[in-house]
Amino acid sequence: MLQQRTLKSLTKAVGVGLHSGQRVELTLRPAAPDTGIIFRRVDLPQPVDIAISALAVTDTRLASTISSGTVKVLTVEHLMSACAGLGIDNLYIDITAEEVPILDGSAASFVFLLQSAGIELQNAPKRFIKVLKSVEVREESSEGGGASAKWARLSPYDGYKLSFEIDFDHPAVDSTGQRVEFDLSSGSYTRDIARARTFGFTKDVEMMRANGLALGGGLDNAIVMDDYKVLNSDGLRYNDEFVKHKILDAMGDLYLLGKPLLAAYSAFRSGHAMNNKLLRELLSHTDAYEIVTFEDEKKAPAGFATLARAW
Ligand SMILES: [Zn+2]
Repeated sequence: MLQQRTLKSLTKAVGVGLHSGQRVELTLRPAAPDTGIIFRRVDLPQPVDIAISALAVTDTRLASTISSGTVKVLTVEHLMSACAGLGIDNLYIDITAEEVPILDGSAASFVFLLQSAGIELQNAPKRFIKVLKSVEVREESSEGGGASAKWARLSPYDGYKLSFEIDFDHPAVDSTGQRVEFDLSSGSYTRDIARARTFGFTKDVEMMRANGLALGGGLDNAIVMDDYKVLNSDGLRYNDEFVKHKILDAMGDLYLLGKPLLAAYSAFRSGHAMNNKLLRELLSHTDAYEIVTFEDEKKAPAGFATLARAW
């Protein structure tokens, strides 16, 4: 049986929020089978739980924010990406402020945290959302001409793979790989995707700071570019780090569905808003997906049983 997974023990991290600049403590704790992933704001007089779900996403302007009533957690996507990459189904995430710490701007620190706590196999079948029919969201270009400015799609696939293409019209980004395809069953998430950092442009950063955003951002947790070049003295971690970060983000955004997908995701210039729209589009077509388990590992998508052992 492909089993659900949680942590063996609890683990903690301290950092600052990318946008709020606030110091925040994070505690990741094991959770029982079928709990799912639950954020708990432990800084409030009464702790408030926010279970991840596509419908809990309430703001996607700069990062993915989830809410329950008026209580929020910002910038959940890199931690969610690490959970997706390592196949964590059940987890409590206690947090002492409104925003997940940015750490090094990638998912690598979260992967390290989860792996150092150790992963526990649970006595319950892992549940996947298997896409049966393609769903798609598009935004047409405001310049017209019929070409789509951006789009994202989920299609049936026996496994989980993502392909992403970027188009930034910036010399430093254009000189790198513009398209990446990643198949989870390759087992290379930690090596090939998790280390890709978030990125930003100095002109946007100045505007964001003026609006009280990106207060925790800097060269130690983001790739920062002026109009021409990357400003980080040690350069890029991958020669296609930008598009790989978009894959990392998409894995995190899509994991907010609450269960891992069996699907092929493909996207052109998508972002947090469009990724969430795509999930809502999927959920609105109840004939486009079903929930499946694999009592017999041999019936799981090729590579998944091996992946489950190697994770
Ligand atoms: Zn990101």
